[in-house]
Formats: sequence, C-alpha cells, structure tokens
Amino acid sequence: MNSQQTIKNLHDLEFDNQFTREMPADPETENFRRQVSQACYSRVIPTKVSQPQLVSYSKEVADLLDLSTAAVESAEFAEVFAGNQVLEGMDPFAMCYGGHQFGNWAGQLGDGRAINLGEVRNQKGEHWTLQLKGAGPTPYSRTADGLAVLRSSVREFLCSEAMYHLGVPTTRALSLVLTGEQVLRDMFYDGNPEHEPGAVVCRVAPSFLRFGNYQIFASRGEIEPLHKLVDYTIRTDFPELGEPGREVYLRWFEEVCRRTADMIIHWMRVGFVHGVMNTDNMSILGLTIDYGPYGWLEDYDPNWTPNTTDAAGRRYRFGNQPQIALWNLVQLANAIFPLIEDAEPLQKSLDEYVDGFEQGFQQMMAEKLGFSSLQRDTDLPLIEELQQVLQLVETDMTIFFRRLALLKAECEPASDAAELLAPLMDAYYDPAKLTGDVRTKITDWLERYLNRLREEQASDAVRRERMNRVNPKYVLRNYLAQLAIDKAAEGDFSLVNELLELLRRPYDEQPEQEEYAGKRPEWARNRPGCSMLSCSS
Ligand code: AMP
Ligand code: MG
Repeated sequence: MNSQQTIKNLHDLEFDNQFTREMPADPETENFRRQVSQACYSRVIPTKVSQPQLVSYSKEVADLLDLSTAAVESAEFAEVFAGNQVLEGMDPFAMCYGGHQFGNWAGQLGDGRAINLGEVRNQKGEHWTLQLKGAGPTPYSRTADGLAVLRSSVREFLCSEAMYHLGVPTTRALSLVLTGEQVLRDMFYDGNPEHEPGAVVCRVAPSFLRFGNYQIFASRGEIEPLHKLVDYTIRTDFPELGEPGREVYLRWFEEVCRRTADMIIHWMRVGFVHGVMNTDNMSILGLTIDYGPYGWLEDYDPNWTPNTTDAAGRRYRFGNQPQIALWNLVQLANAIFPLIEDAEPLQKSLDEYVDGFEQGFQQMMAEKLGFSSLQRDTDLPLIEELQQVLQLVETDMTIFFRRLALLKAECEPASDAAELLAPLMDAYYDPAKLTGDVRTKITDWLERYLNRLREEQASDAVRRERMNRVNPKYVLRNYLAQLAIDKAAEGDFSLVNELLELLRRPYDEQPEQEEYAGKRPEWARNRPGCSMLSCSS
C-alpha cells in the first residue's frame, strides 16, 4: 500500500450499495420462506449468534477493503462478520435466483444461506460486495437452516484464497469466524446426524450474480426485471462494452463465454474439480464460486468427481468440465434470448466458446510443457498422448508437471530408462508398476518430449523457471484440507493458518514445507473428506 492511502477501521468503510438501490426489491421484509417474483432480492438481517470468534483472515482481502490489521483483529470485526452487528451503510439482502441442478431445472433457489451485507467502495474506487455465508435463514432457505459448519467453511475459506494465488479467477474470502453455535448435519446422508461447530465465511467479489439470476426471470416470463438486471450488469461490471442495447447484449454474452472458457482452462491447468457446476453456481463474471464438494486431482483421472452425489452420473467429473460449462452457457443464452430474439448470434458466441476453449487449452498445455510457442504439428500429438501416458499408472498430476521441469534437454540423452524416469519417480503412487509396456510407453513419450525441447532456444534453467510459473508446487490437496479441519474441530487452528500462508506462494519452492508437496498418503485414499465429499455442509 502506498503512503497516500489511509488504513481504515470498520466504521470508516464506505458503502455504495448500487445493487439494492437500482434493482427491483421484494416488497416483503419479513423473513419467511417464500417464492419471490418480479424482484432481484429480499432484504434480510443476519441471525444473531452467541460467541463470534475470528479463526483466520486473509491479509490480501483486508487490503482490498483498505482495512487495517487492528480493525480485522478487533472484537467488533468478529461481531460484524458473524452477522451480529450491521454497520451503518450496510443494506443486507439475499438474492433471488434459480438454476439447473444436475441438468434439471430446479426452479427458485436463491441465497438460502448467503447474505450480502453491502458494497464497499475502496480507495481505488473499486466495488467489493461483502457476503456472509452461513449467517442464518433467508426467504430462499427452502427447507434448510441457512447455516454452515466449520468443516465446509474451512474448505471454502482456504480454497478461495489458494485459487486466487494460483491465478485462477475466483471469489475471495475475507474471514472465517466461529459462531459458537452447534449445527446439526447428516454428513453422509445415512440417518446419523451430528452436531458440528457453526461458522461463517465472509466472501468478497465485485458481484455474486450467477447464470441463475437471469434464468429465474426468463423461466417466469418476467422480461422487464430481466432487462433491468442485464442492463445493470453491463453498466456496473462490463462498462467497457458500452451502453446496453441489443448489440451490446451480444458482446456481453460473448464476453461471458470468453471468461467462462478462461476460468475452465485454469481449472484444467491446476487440476481443480468444482464438483457442482449447476447453473446457480456459475458466476456471470467468470469467477470460481461456491466451494462445496470440490476436489483436487491427485492421480490424473479425468473421470474423477469428488462429489458423492455425482458419483453415479459423473456429470461434473474433471474431464467433463469444459462441456458442462458450455451446457450452462446454452442455458444462459436461453435465458437472455427474449432480449435478443435471434438464436444465430448467440449460437455464434457458443461456437466461439468451443474454439476459444480448444485453442486456450492447447496453449495452456504448451506452457505447462515449457514450449515457448505451440507448434501444432509436433505439439498437439504430444499433448494428446500425454493424456494417455498420465493414465497408464497412478500418476500425481501436480508432482508430474512440476518435476517435468527438471528434465535436462541440454545434456547428453539419458543412458537408460531409469535415468530418464528418475526426476519423475515421486509422481508415481506405485513405482513397482512401471514395468514392461507401461514403462516403454512413458519413456517413449519422454524421449519425444526431450527431442521437442531441444528445438527450444531457451536454456533448461530458463525453461524450468517458465514452467514453474504455471505448474504449481503446492495445491490444497484434499487430505491437507481435511487435516486442517480435523485440528480445527479440536480448537487448534494452526494448520488452517499454516496452509493459508503456504498457499500464498504456490509456485515457489518452500523447502521447509516440502511435506505438503508430497503425494496423498495411503490413509487418505478412501477417507471421507479426502477423496469423497458430500454436499452436506
Ligand atoms: P449449492 O448446491 O450448495 O450451491 O446450493 C444450492 C441451493 O441450496 C442454494 O440456493 C443454496 O443457497 C441452498 N442451500 C444450501 N445449503 C443450505 C442451507 N444450509 N440452508 C439454506 N439453504 C441452503
Ligand atoms: Mg450454490
């Protein structure tokens, strides 16, 4: 921060609540479950809790809001960000949206356990919406309680910040606060509910609008509020596109397609599986949103889904994410169709998504492999075959790519397969399986890859440096998050904070933290929370 900026305490925060000021509100202000029509949101106050306690916060997000360390560490901060106190200037509300869940239209969903507090305008003039997740029921809570437990809140808090530092577009997380309440959850949906500590995460994003916010109006034939919402979105979050009108609507949809493709390419780069890509979990800004039963690929398996609810159909498996994003964009196109009344230009943007994704994906893979530019003739087959090579035996995706940078193209070719494979051995879950045909296929690929590297101008050292900027050393491995949760459940938050710190520099070597860069330990292979996650949160 430069010296001209003042550091603020909570009461100095400046709120400029454009959304509630400009968008149609639900006239009902009582907090009971209902269908809400012709409105973008309902005003609702967070539920008071007994004992707010700050567990962790993100320094970078506090900086975005110009908040001082003293402000964040004050007792009042925990009160505000657990939902006990509404600051002057805040205007709390829950948004109305619908969505397709697992491919089926689910009608009205809405912020069932998220309450937007207001929009902070920081000193740079940026708008940041503060949103509490787990701060009590809203008109959109349907049959649920509006609360969140510590387990899922730790996961959301850590992963949002880890993704940001990896360079993946995402909503942010300011704080993780324990509420002091106990929350009943049936974690495995097996009829054995247990009490778990309640928690609230404060999420931060320029906007939390989802595809489902537009879909709900279209599904009800409420074209006027749809129109208003699209115009608002363009004016506030896409001002560079120009004044809203038919042409600008089309450019906007094209831009949403482009941003969505960009986000998915990043997910594929780092091995992130969202787990619940329903249209209500797709941000209009192309941000990763709603960290639920997400997971990180350990062994490279494009068919893997972390979500137990998705286990049968595997709709949201790693390798299917690009197609699902397209399916979701088609639903968004359908929703805004009434403003355009011509399918052709919308289809054109969808086609551009397909092409743009393909090209972006290939470019991203070329960067992961350390090529300074993509030479289609040689590189596309290499990239294609690598997908197969990674699946021959259980291969840790993150370690494999990181270690690939250690191969030497400058030296004499390796004298045998063992020497060639040596830098990569850490990536294999069962090195004993590297025999026969499997071994030959992997080493053949490596030899072709090395030949390709020899055409590069850059030295090994320069290439390694470049590769290390796109192939992270540290990701939020599923079992690491679970270890942090296990400790947190006993009141020890040290690992939450240690992982938060570790994941601020995911591309750097951190020799003292080497243990967190290793393969998933065997005990975690089938442990719930480490390899299988339910939606219960
Ligand atoms: P998700 O699939 O987690 O994004 O949630 C789908 C819908 O269920 C959203 O409308 C959420 O707000 C709502 N929801 C999830 N959990 C709860 C809860 N504990 N209380 C109220 N609503 C919830
Ligand atoms: Mg959601």
